[in-house]
This record gives sequence, structure tokens and C-alpha cells, in this order.
Amino acid sequence: MKKVTTALLILLPFFIFAKVKVVGTIPDYTSIAKEIGGERVTVETLVKGTQDPHFADALPSHIIRLNRADLLISTGLGLESGWLPALLKNARNKKIQQGSEGFLEASRFVSLLDIPAKIDKSMGDVHPGGNPHFYTAPDQLFLIAKAVKNRLKIIDPQGKEYYEKQWTDFKTRYSQEVKKWKEKVKGMEGTRIVVYHESWVYLLKWLGFEKVGALEPKPGIPPSAGHVSRLLKRIKGKDVKFIFQEIYHPTSLSKVFSKKSGIRLLILPSMTGAQKDVKTIWDKFDAIINKITKGE
Ligand SMILES: [Zn+2]
Repeated sequence: MKKVTTALLILLPFFIFAKVKVVGTIPDYTSIAKEIGGERVTVETLVKGTQDPHFADALPSHIIRLNRADLLISTGLGLESGWLPALLKNARNKKIQQGSEGFLEASRFVSLLDIPAKIDKSMGDVHPGGNPHFYTAPDQLFLIAKAVKNRLKIIDPQGKEYYEKQWTDFKTRYSQEVKKWKEKVKGMEGTRIVVYHESWVYLLKWLGFEKVGALEPKPGIPPSAGHVSRLLKRIKGKDVKFIFQEIYHPTSLSKVFSKKSGIRLLILPSMTGAQKDVKTIWDKFDAIINKITKGE
């Protein structure tokens, strides 16, 4: 019996190791953490893909998740500033506080757009550091995946080789998927788009599309009938193809705009989990590209 116990104790570390607990503010970050972290991590998300990440509720269950976390991946640039700081304070977890290795702000690793030269309240909910919706573009998520890989190697040094291998696999898959997506949208460069909220600048840049207007008069300010009719006049004859909108914004005025202008309204999954069949970042861009190419 003693021999068996000793053998088990020796073997045990090969079967059981403490997994790195990763929490992502939005599901895209947890999807990436799972891709890179594989069997060495567990992942949990705070905001659902169907929710507006600007206005999440600070739930007690979020505090519990953050209290146990080894790594928190957030957007930064003020996207989560309405709810994350209070959660972090209440979670009382030194490992994931700002400045720790367990605090990863994705905005520090991407190529930012829409950085305002000056800022005042009249501009609406503009983010002074730049547009925080970079998770809508594949190339930006790639940069975040690289940062997650590097951070996991620091937090869990025993898994260094494993994470590098996972990263190599990720890069291979990424190139294959990008090739497929780019092939599908070939010839669509220059397509003109009206957006609802300013969530799509990174995706539009990646696609080579052009934004000609927004239904929100200013970021975070809901569209008004007056603004919508002015926009209708301004884009007349400009051959605008689609309206891009997230799932969590109301569609009443967008539908009016679509009907009057003849421009198709596309509700796109801005985040992983925004639609039932969008479980990973790969699914997300498959769905986005399909909607764009089919036009529905
Ligand atoms: Zn926003």
C-alpha cells in the first residue's frame, strides 16, 4: 500500500497542476486565452457578447471571479471604466491590480485609431486615449494573442514551451483563416458603410472599407430623428452599401434609415458570443465575412 501511495505522489504532478485562472472582461479575450492557454488555463468572462461593454453591471459573481483570478485581460481606454474599477477594488486580489503581471490591458498592445487631438464634453463619449473597439478586427486580436502568450509565460513559467507551441499553432491557423477571409471579400475594397456606433473603425480599415457616417450623432449619444434625416440627405447618391450595427443597440431608427435609404442593415457580432453560433474568434470573423459577402 505504501509503495502505491509513493508512486501516486511521484506521478501526481504530471496529472494535476494548478491551472492559470484567466478572466476576460469581454469574451474575445477569453477565447484568445483558451486558444493560447489550452489545457493549462481555465477561462471566465465578465461581459456577455450580447451586452454593451460600456455599461456592464458590477455583479457579485464578477467579484468572486476576479478574486480568484491569476490574469485579468481588459480593454482599457475607458471602455470598462464605468464598472471595472469598483469590481477590482472589491475583489481584493493583488495579482490582478493595475501594474501587476496579472493585469493585462489589451489597448497597450494594439495599433490604436481615433486618438483625438483635443477633447471636450461636447464631443460625446469620446475616449481620450483612442477608440477602444479594436477587438472587431482580426489583426488587432492577433496582437492581443501575442501579448497574452508572453504574459502567460511570465505567470506560469513551467508552461513556457507549451505556450510557445500553442502560439505557433495559433499563428498557423490565423494565416490560414485570414487568407480565406481576404479571398472572400476580394474586390469589395472601398465599400461604403454607415455605422451605428463607432465600433467598426478597426474592422473597416482591415477590410479596406470606407465609413461615410454614423447613426449616433456623437459616440454614445443615441440617434435622433433629426440626425437621421440629415444623414439621409448627406449620403444621398454616395452608393453606401451597408449599415454596420452591434446586436445590443436598438434597431428602430436604423430600420427607418435602412428603409428610406435602401441601404441594408447588417447586425454583426462585434464580440464572440454575440450570436449562438459564434463561440470563438474564428467563428466571429466567419460570421462577419459571411454577412458582408451575402449582404444579409
Ligand atoms: Zn464605444
